Amino acid sequence: MSDVSDVNEMNDTITLALSKGRIFEETLPLLAAAGIEVTEDPDKSRKLILATNRPDVRVVLVRATDVPTYVQHGGADLGVAGKDVLLEHGGEGLFQPLDLKIARCRMSVATRDDFDYDSAVRQGSRIRVATKYTEIARRHFADKGVHVDLIKLYGSMELAPLTGLADAIVDLVSTGSTLKANRLREVEPFLEISSRLVVNQAALKLKRDRLRPMIDAFAAAVAARG
Ligand code: ATP
Ligand code: MG
Repeated sequence: MSDVSDVNEMNDTITLALSKGRIFEETLPLLAAAGIEVTEDPDKSRKLILATNRPDVRVVLVRATDVPTYVQHGGADLGVAGKDVLLEHGGEGLFQPLDLKIARCRMSVATRDDFDYDSAVRQGSRIRVATKYTEIARRHFADKGVHVDLIKLYGSMELAPLTGLADAIVDLVSTGSTLKANRLREVEPFLEISSRLVVNQAALKLKRDRLRPMIDAFAAAVAARG
């Protein structure tokens, strides 16, 4: 059943990739500003493709770290991804027209509260750092001229200093309460994080007449928030 009309239907559709949770929730008001309303609740169904009030616009739900990949390869025309995720991905093939200023937090170095980070840095010791964000961490410590052994983790990092796996972690911090609950100390916030709109470069050319007004409406909504 993949005749020409199916292909055309795909070309007529605008696909937006979002991750469930804070990015989905915080993108909804921006979509509303562009006249787009998601008509299905992701928490009440297992659907991964959600319809909107616009027959030509749909939302696909993907893992936060997969958003740049979907958009880069045209699985989605546009998406919303954290700066952390974009820096780790590299941003190849992505047009990044807009900081949406949502899902704000910071990237920080944290240690056990009894670890003397500053003197370890001063003395030029090798520091063992566990993180999910190895690219961001590698760059940060290289810029500081600090020698580190990076340990890649996929799950919660807070456990690493507590078990002796690492001296420090590089992780996202918003309120700091998770660190505190695990007796960790934020010793070096170094990067402000927020989420960006990312657009597939080919889609921007082919679907410009519909993508441009969406991007402009998002930009106006972000600016109106101050
Ligand atoms: P998962 O939690 O499913 O493993 P994830 O951590 O990648 O995946 P989210 O927790 O939804 O997904 O985070 C999505 C984005 O939101 C992150 O890439 C980051 O930019 C931002 N973010 C993460 N944690 C916070 C936070 N505590 N406060 C504000 N923004 C955050
Ligand atoms: Mg998370």
